[in-house]
Amino acid sequence: MDNDSFRQQAHELVDWIADYYQNIESYPVKSQCEPGEILASLPTKPPESAESFDDIMQDFNQIIMQGMTHWQSPNFFAYFPANASQPSFLAEMLMSAIGAQCMSWQTSPAATELEECVMGWLRQMLDLPDTFEGVIQDTASTATLCALLTARERVSDYQINKHGFKGSEKFTLYCSIEAHSSIEKAVRIAGFGGESLRKIPVDSQGALRFDVLQSQVVEDKQRGFKPLCVIAALGTTGTTAMDPLQDIGHFCREEGLWFHVDAAYAGSAMILPECRHLSQGVELADSFVFNPHKWLFTHFDCSAYFVKDTDALKRTFSILPEYLKTKEGDQVNNYRDWGVALGRRFRALKLWFVLRSFGLEGLRAKLRKHIALAQQVQSWITEYPDFDVMAPTPLNLVCFRYHPAGAEDLNQLNMVLMERINATGKAYFTHTKVGNDVAIRWVIGQTEVEEEHITSAWELLKNTANLLD
Ligand SMILES: *Cc1c(COP(=O)(O)O)cnc(C)c1O
Repeated sequence: MDNDSFRQQAHELVDWIADYYQNIESYPVKSQCEPGEILASLPTKPPESAESFDDIMQDFNQIIMQGMTHWQSPNFFAYFPANASQPSFLAEMLMSAIGAQCMSWQTSPAATELEECVMGWLRQMLDLPDTFEGVIQDTASTATLCALLTARERVSDYQINKHGFKGSEKFTLYCSIEAHSSIEKAVRIAGFGGESLRKIPVDSQGALRFDVLQSQVVEDKQRGFKPLCVIAALGTTGTTAMDPLQDIGHFCREEGLWFHVDAAYAGSAMILPECRHLSQGVELADSFVFNPHKWLFTHFDCSAYFVKDTDALKRTFSILPEYLKTKEGDQVNNYRDWGVALGRRFRALKLWFVLRSFGLEGLRAKLRKHIALAQQVQSWITEYPDFDVMAPTPLNLVCFRYHPAGAEDLNQLNMVLMERINATGKAYFTHTKVGNDVAIRWVIGQTEVEEEHITSAWELLKNTANLLD
């Protein structure tokens, strides 16, 4: 492709993109494809000769778009969002255009230094103590893995990196039964073994039972284990429940345990002063992660990891072969030493574009709107006799179920209701379990969501539910 045709096609693509955003509500939110449908439409052999851009685009429109779920639709209420925005998108375009791989300072000094800058901004925005230093990771899963590996190395005086677990103490780690699956995954990958993760029960609000945590740690010590780390959730994935950070934080200090806070979704709310009471105790953490790629209008992937002991972090991850040595040495941050991957995308750029384009005021206004809309939804559901609210709504996730008089298998009924809604393509919900009960999750965190969207979705829910009886 020569530069002239590139210019023309890129212009056409920008029009395609603007049209897409304009018409996004006309697509079914959740792809209505059956398994195997897309693959069956694709050639089984790679093309021998070059194909034209027009041909590729035609297949993109006809085949690929069928199989896309529209995460940026304002009618997407599933999972947690991966909300994006135009400024973030434009920054991604520039990043793609330059195509830099930013593993060390020298490979693009601006990428490293802008990352230092925006992570400092985020730290202030969330009112985190300045003893934290930040680094961007791809996902919260990776950030949590980094936390566990650093905790492991620091406590073993960096010997497990060297010799493996042979002869080392038998470590135990702690989280609640509602903690995200990425925690168990990190425990497995870090070599502790899934059994060493103690899953502590939760109270009626979905928060980790601190009394049970304390007695479990005492019991483990008596049985010869070495408690290492507690992972607390600031906003669980199922229901945005808040673990008691302050109690856990003080306890971790007394016991010499690493304290990691997983705020992957709800962390964004800490830019609102009125939400800071939810994060009290976070200053006691050794490490903290939240995802601007979930609820801060920055494209996936962008996960903000904050850690106090950056020396321990770097000692855990740094390996310096000859071909990576640069003359700046320790004078600069080489973020390849701050995590798992060597190669790094320039993710700070999209955060910078977002923070500057919205300003703190703009970001706060969006988040406040989402929270207010969710509170509105919660009151509709509370007042409507055939629906129950299933968990507290501290932010913008409402967990609910349909509960008509006389219905028997409510779990089955709610799964059917949800699938019917999703099959309309007009809205997309996912579910969780609260105790043994299926609850439909309604997350209101889309960049362009307005009152009209939640009003239509609520009508759709009521009408679809009535037709089930
Ligand atoms: C979404 C989520 C994660 C995982 O986030 P990734 O960035 O996809 O790894 C971890 N913890 C919680 C509480 C989450 O909600």
